[in-house]
Amino acid sequence: ETQREENVDQIIEGLLKGDRMMLSRAITLIESQAGRHKKQAEEILQRIMTRSGNSIRIGISGVPGAGKSTLIESLGLHLCKQGYQVAVLAVDPSSAVHGGSILGDKTRMEQLSKHPNAFIRPSPSGGRLGGVHLRTRETIFICEAAGYNVILVETVGVGQSEVMVRDMVDFFMLLVLTGAGDELQGMKKGIMEFADAVIINKADGPNAEAAKKTQREYQQILQFLQPAANDWVRPALTCSALYGEGIEQIWKTVLEFEKTTKESGLFYNNRNIQAKAWLYTNIREKLETDFFSHEKIKNLIPDIEKKVLEEKMTVTKASKILFNAFYGK
Ligand code: GDP
Repeated sequence: ETQREENVDQIIEGLLKGDRMMLSRAITLIESQAGRHKKQAEEILQRIMTRSGNSIRIGISGVPGAGKSTLIESLGLHLCKQGYQVAVLAVDPSSAVHGGSILGDKTRMEQLSKHPNAFIRPSPSGGRLGGVHLRTRETIFICEAAGYNVILVETVGVGQSEVMVRDMVDFFMLLVLTGAGDELQGMKKGIMEFADAVIINKADGPNAEAAKKTQREYQQILQFLQPAANDWVRPALTCSALYGEGIEQIWKTVLEFEKTTKESGLFYNNRNIQAKAWLYTNIREKLETDFFSHEKIKNLIPDIEKKVLEEKMTVTKASKILFNAFYGK
């Protein structure tokens, strides 16, 4: 890296003033695997902690082509014009696997990226999915400390990444297209169980009628899936991200959700549950990393694995030997 190194004080001072360059530097430190950077990132996070949390965190999910980035562009601009400070982040499992990225393409969200109230951060690349998840959560805190009060977290509609995003946002919206029938058969149903709203996009032109029908189908399903102990009735809305129709209604829904769940305490309870889960995920990650990077473990594992595969040693015995070595017994 050729980038000039600022010290932690400079970075914190800058990002608290809303300096985007310093915000980017802080996030780069958070995403870095280097030990020295990790230390600096930890210090930054510790020192900005009390300044974070003051935002609404929104997850946006949907299959590629559903219109996520188009929606983020139009919703984001709508909010920026109202004076909100909007940060856009991404959790992208494909970037860890293929090196691609959902926010990597700079032509997406072109107008939003130029707006002074917006900050768009491409998804972190490399590393395991678990690690990416932890970094994104930390990035949310940093953005909040920098003054961003709407955080949009985009993820593609594939499996685990949606659960991860659900665990770091207050409001989770699922973007779908017409033809609900097929989707409801499959795993989409699992995702719908934790969607706070389903948005049927591309409700324009010849597709408008079909979108209305799809909306009614989703409304029924959502009613059916309604958890008993929940004060939020999850709506199905239509919108046209491309033509900016229904965007205002989406934002109204988010605000209504925030108001309702803050009054009931669900909002804060949810954040507490998330913080707790995050703590234990962190602990597990650290344990795993420490364990597998331990010299003795690295030396022992090939032989032990071989013995297990040859059925010369039980898995229980193998684990016991490894743990004894790890704890120096
Ligand atoms: P993403 O992969 O979910 O981020 O989807 P994109 O935002 O890139 O959109 C995929 C394609 O659908 C693009 O060609 C968009 O122009 C188009 N699109 C997105 N939203 C709408 C919409 O509301 N109406 C119509 N007709 N097309 C849309």
